[in-house]
Amino acid sequence: MADTGFLPKENLPALLEALSKKFAVFAPVLDGEVVLFKRFAPGATLCLTRPANLPPKGIIFPQSETLFNFNFKKDPEDPKKTSLELKENLDFVPTIIFGSRPCDAQGFRIYDRVYLETDTADPYYKGRREKTTIITLACNAPSPGCFCTSVGRGPAESDGSDLMMTELGKGYFFEPMTEKGKEIFKDSLFEDGSAYKEQAQKAHERVSALVKKPFAILEGTPEKLLSLFENSQFWEGETAKCISCGACTYLCPTCYCFNITDEQVGNSGERIRSWDACMFFHFTLEASSHNPRQNKHQRLKNRVGHKFSYYPKKYQGVIACCGCGRCIRYCPMSVDISEIVAHAQGA
Ligand code: SF4
Ligand code: SF4
Repeated sequence: MADTGFLPKENLPALLEALSKKFAVFAPVLDGEVVLFKRFAPGATLCLTRPANLPPKGIIFPQSETLFNFNFKKDPEDPKKTSLELKENLDFVPTIIFGSRPCDAQGFRIYDRVYLETDTADPYYKGRREKTTIITLACNAPSPGCFCTSVGRGPAESDGSDLMMTELGKGYFFEPMTEKGKEIFKDSLFEDGSAYKEQAQKAHERVSALVKKPFAILEGTPEKLLSLFENSQFWEGETAKCISCGACTYLCPTCYCFNITDEQVGNSGERIRSWDACMFFHFTLEASSHNPRQNKHQRLKNRVGHKFSYYPKKYQGVIACCGCGRCIRYCPMSVDISEIVAHAQGA
């Protein structure tokens, strides 16, 4: 078997249909005017020409999930005696994320350090992550707002992906990155791709040169942001337009905050984990009614600081923003995180 493969475009539906027999396959499809990752079904309108509006993060880290069901039981003879039954929801199915973009796949690497690479791995994230294969499409043009090269990444970066694909004229060039990627690659629909490797490399370089560079990650950026921590004037200026809608965090492939709620009727209920957002006033509201981040500039400072200062300080300099540009493209007030970092560097 060759190290790389080539799939003629007309074979793509057949590949997805073959994969769907063994995996739950999620692919970017057109839904009205937006592109969303949905369970692939024959006849779906695939959209590989622009990044999905919402990254595929919810496939591994769902927007809302029941972690476990619980049931209290009272001893009918002695009401002071109770017992508790728990049923964890840890059944995960083999899954493929097809057509993620490099920035989205790298988003999972940001999560891995927090949810997997610790002494207490999150069993829900771990279960889905281990059963998921990520097939990533290298970008063939930057979208408005993209700035991946400024954060040390790129439109063909393979970190976080199991199998990389690059569109080349009449087909796609495939290169496996992991054992999971190699398994997919065994499908007989692939032709030998060795003749296309150089062409793919040139395509990656061409697109990389087109990505805008609002700033370069300079040595000392985390420290520079920390030095501005008490500078309310700077943060108020950067936040003036923000309406605290939280869209930037919900659309971000590297935001992973959540809230936990219990929903109970009688003696039974479920514990639910749902995405939350540090841009919301209630996120840090304490039971005493004190709120350490009651002003929106404190919340935006936290969001930018987390991605460009606190996370890299904790995880060997890794910036927790992959430069996908979604928060810029879809912010209703045109707040631009890349400009904020550039302003901070110059402040
Ligand atoms: S999307 Fe824009 S307006 Fe909404 S919270 Fe984020 S920065 Fe503020
Ligand atoms: S902060 Fe913005 S540009 Fe960076 S990964 Fe999140 S959505 Fe993308």
